[in-house]
Amino acid sequence: MENKSSVIKRAITKDGSVRVVFCDSTAAVRRSCEIHKTAKTATAVLGRCLTAAAMMGSLLKNRDDSLTLRFDGDGPAGSVVCVSDYKGNVRGYMDNPAVELPPNGAGKLDVGGAVGRGTLYVIRDMGMKEPYVGASPIVTSEIGDDLTSYFANSEQTPTVCALGVRVNTDNMCFAAGGYLLQLMPGADDAMIGVIEENVKGMKSVSALIAEGLDGDEIIGQLLRGIPYEMFDEFDMGYVCPCGREKYLSALAGLREDDLREICDKGEDVETGCLFCGAKYTFTPAEILAERERKRKMTAEGGEAGEEKGTKTSITSRSRSETTAK
Ligand SMILES: [Zn+2]
Repeated sequence: MENKSSVIKRAITKDGSVRVVFCDSTAAVRRSCEIHKTAKTATAVLGRCLTAAAMMGSLLKNRDDSLTLRFDGDGPAGSVVCVSDYKGNVRGYMDNPAVELPPNGAGKLDVGGAVGRGTLYVIRDMGMKEPYVGASPIVTSEIGDDLTSYFANSEQTPTVCALGVRVNTDNMCFAAGGYLLQLMPGADDAMIGVIEENVKGMKSVSALIAEGLDGDEIIGQLLRGIPYEMFDEFDMGYVCPCGREKYLSALAGLREDDLREICDKGEDVETGCLFCGAKYTFTPAEILAERERKRKMTAEGGEAGEEKGTKTSITSRSRSETTAK
């Protein structure tokens, strides 16, 4: 399932001490609204998280790396989980896509109220035995500020993270995007001062995108007065890499007891992808055959590794409470 027409652009100052990642994620966020049928406030919550995950994911080094951004807040939105690959292709879900709150004091969609307080996690899976997990308290629940705080405290990287999602009266996302501006060690104080003034004088990133400005123009405003060059740009979108085989493999890898409980019923098992809504149905015989195949491969020393990246709710036709991941 692919839907690519959002874009990431990246720039770096000539002295190499400041990098900027810009993302116009409008199309990707729209796709997430269609899949999850988000209410307005939920669109802003999920859209901001997706945009942030995409930009952070684009900073991963290797083709198979992935980044998960998870906000576990105590607000009515529940947990929000977004996953990006190294090209900024994203997918995500939230516990409560129906969350709708009155506008906040500034007349904006109340993202902070929906997310609430708690912890944010940044999980980088770089193919090592264990993924790298960073955590930080949620400080304002507006997502961008929380990530600025995360980068400062957990990664010692001074960062400006701006995110914005505009939704019209028909509940349609008409502008979504953001930027990450990061200072590398050795950044010049005078240059930092110029950037701070630039950021202060700019409209919100979603307002600029809504006005039709592109990444070149927005990066131009951020780095006005500083020599820089555009580094690269690429398309990204809302992309879910799930497939039937992945879910079959995940089911076959369930604990013996859980698997027996499912298969003893003799009914087909239906799985649904939490990221894209795809449904896959399996017969118990199929699942058991896959389990046997995996067992043989392991016995022969082959690679029967666990499937990564599948997140699913499983229901048998007669209602099973089992959840696999
Ligand atoms: Zn999927």
